[in-house]
Amino acid sequence: MTVRRSWAEPWKIKMIEPIRMTAPEHRQEAIREAGYNTFLLQSDDVYIDLLTDSGTSAMSENQWAGIMLGDEAYAGSRSYRHLCEAIEEIYGYPETVPTHQGRGAEHILSQILIRPGDVIPGNMYFTTTRFHQEYAGGKFVDVIIDEAHDPASTHPFKGNVDLAKLAAVVEEHGAERIPYICPETNVNLAGGQPMSMENLRQVWEFCRPLGILVMLDATRALENAWFIKQRETGYQDRSVREILKEICSYSDGATVSSKKDNLVNIGGFLALRDPELARRARALLVAFEGLQTYGGMSGRDMEALARGIREMVETDDHVRARVGQVEYLGRLISEAGVPIVVPVGGHGVFLDARAILAHLPQDHFPAQALAAALYVDSGVRGMERGIVSAGRNKETGDHNRPRLELVRLTIPRRVYTQSHMDVTAESVAAVYAEREQVRGLRFTYEPPDLRFFQARFEPIEA
Ligand SMILES: *Cc1c(COP(=O)(O)O)cnc(C)c1O
Repeated sequence: MTVRRSWAEPWKIKMIEPIRMTAPEHRQEAIREAGYNTFLLQSDDVYIDLLTDSGTSAMSENQWAGIMLGDEAYAGSRSYRHLCEAIEEIYGYPETVPTHQGRGAEHILSQILIRPGDVIPGNMYFTTTRFHQEYAGGKFVDVIIDEAHDPASTHPFKGNVDLAKLAAVVEEHGAERIPYICPETNVNLAGGQPMSMENLRQVWEFCRPLGILVMLDATRALENAWFIKQRETGYQDRSVREILKEICSYSDGATVSSKKDNLVNIGGFLALRDPELARRARALLVAFEGLQTYGGMSGRDMEALARGIREMVETDDHVRARVGQVEYLGRLISEAGVPIVVPVGGHGVFLDARAILAHLPQDHFPAQALAAALYVDSGVRGMERGIVSAGRNKETGDHNRPRLELVRLTIPRRVYTQSHMDVTAESVAAVYAEREQVRGLRFTYEPPDLRFFQARFEPIEA
């Protein structure tokens, strides 16, 4: 008989934030008022908020202490220096360009490197990344492996770049039209799926002789490092700190949204090796973000961020607990027989709404309806990632019909306990047991762009 050995979070709770418990009748009314769109709920009406893991982390006592020590000098802030030191030490980049959040860094990078007509390959698009590439006159081309689009494929590195696809893009457009490639670590829209170190190295070795820069989206590089440690031969005995540094060694720079891995509520940066490129970035920074020594963050933001960067890799225990909690929720939901995307990724569990609500056609928005039903059942807030998020085809006016019709349950870092995960899994199982009761939805208001944020719906009568 094997002895059971549980593990728990490597922290204890010093300060708590009360959350409101509500009755089903209250939630029924709240979701109706929100037009059956979880984005339009008031957070006071939410019990367990799994809408996003962006900017929702809990800071440590050390970070809060840093808030009090932030240097608010307009120029030459000591907190900026601390941030530069942390980034150089942990990520390995000598040049730090601070920004208000990830998209600020993407904006600056796109503006300094992309000329109209250029092509930027990447492993599946990210919304703001692609926006800024196109805004600068470039075109995004997806070079992720095919397995990333299949919810049932158990490939261990579903975030990998397909080198044959990349070579074909170079063949078609010529290396001179490709200023850089943007490999995203732990690909968000694929469900938090990692790249392997081998793949990162191959991309680097392929691009260097062609003069194509490698600019990582390293927003979720820590979670990616953890998966490399778990799944890639030769990394079992390396610390995530070492692995993260090696990931970044195969790149010329990176954009980072610090609202994710870095354990702060706001912030981001562009990090570079080339001082000349950094000089050009800073010239734009002062116009769009702020002076080069704060770039849209306050001194205390930078101080808490510098501490968050060191803390995330101080030992492997933090990331083990972070990804472990996501896996824990995934396992509970899976064991209840509910179909989810596998393997479970780094930041959330994705429910397969198409399979769960098989009685609803995709045009009745099964994932939207499932997210609303889950909220009414327990006050757990997830978000739709399916046909509503995919929007309409600009030419035909018809819905884009993505293969993946999902409800995303995203877990904030260090905020909820395993008991909150138990409650969430039990609620998913309860809704699943009553799934035939869930009715489809139709629009009562459909915004022209990014419709998922503000759209309103009503149930379709049986
Ligand atoms: C969140 C995110 C961004 C954008 O960052 P913001 O801080 O929200 O502007 C970019 N890339 C990835 C992979 C992200 O998860």
